[in-house]
Amino acid sequence: MALPNLVSIDIEYDGDLNWLQGFRGATLGGLGLVVFRTGANVIGDPLGAFESVALTTSAKDTLLGFRFFTSRPWNPNYSALLSFNQLKEVEIVFSCGGGCSSRVDDDTIIDLARGMPKLEVLQLGRTPCQTPTGITVNGLINLACRCPHLLKLRIHFQAATLVEAATSATAPSPSDEPAISRKDCALTDLEVGGTPIPARSGSTIAHILLQIFPHILNIKYTNHEWKLVAETVKDFRRIGGFVHRSSKTPITLHLTTDTIVMPCQKTQSIIRTPVGGWSTRRPCYRP
Ligand SMILES: [Zn+2]
Repeated sequence: MALPNLVSIDIEYDGDLNWLQGFRGATLGGLGLVVFRTGANVIGDPLGAFESVALTTSAKDTLLGFRFFTSRPWNPNYSALLSFNQLKEVEIVFSCGGGCSSRVDDDTIIDLARGMPKLEVLQLGRTPCQTPTGITVNGLINLACRCPHLLKLRIHFQAATLVEAATSATAPSPSDEPAISRKDCALTDLEVGGTPIPARSGSTIAHILLQIFPHILNIKYTNHEWKLVAETVKDFRRIGGFVHRSSKTPITLHLTTDTIVMPCQKTQSIIRTPVGGWSTRRPCYRP
């Protein structure tokens, strides 16, 4: 099969993936985007099926975007996408209705971040639900370190681990490659949905998110506890420093990455610690 002018495929199917075999060995021109939609009750492993066929086609060299939509709960086999390391956009949408079905963890996200360093959009799952699950601060740091072009992120993550990182002497590190040279991660948009956060931790979480994602601008939430986080980030973007709205939160950080980028443009707010991590002095406060 040769489809030299094909640039995108958007297919709605209902359970049976045998039709994929028709693409085996195909020359698909400049295929850049693949979209699957299914209402099947049993979803199986369509990502694995896609990988096994796509690797026999020219798509393995051209595919930039992959999207999959189901209204059902699902635990995808994300590793099937690791063969496509040029991907810039990955959106896998499934439901948390009837109980959280997200199984994404740090190992999964580190593998994806390693395998897809060009990622610009990563959206796993529908709007995060209220279950405290998902990746930790370590997973977020790894994403920021390994995917400098990442602009939009929607993922289940454990916000409590950000607070723990702010107070713990044990520094999370970007897994086993300490020599990673971190650049500014481009991320501007973080969708947190109903992600739970510890009480009275909004200011601390805002500070740490600004450390991990120095360009973060928009936080989309359904859990109203995130309002303070979102407003603190907006304030920071507007005035170039922190505003304490309700509490003076300790902001000493121990995020061990190779180069945590300074969020504060007015003063040198981050200093290197003797153990090679980074900590912060009080930066640009307005009382
Ligand atoms: Zn969920």
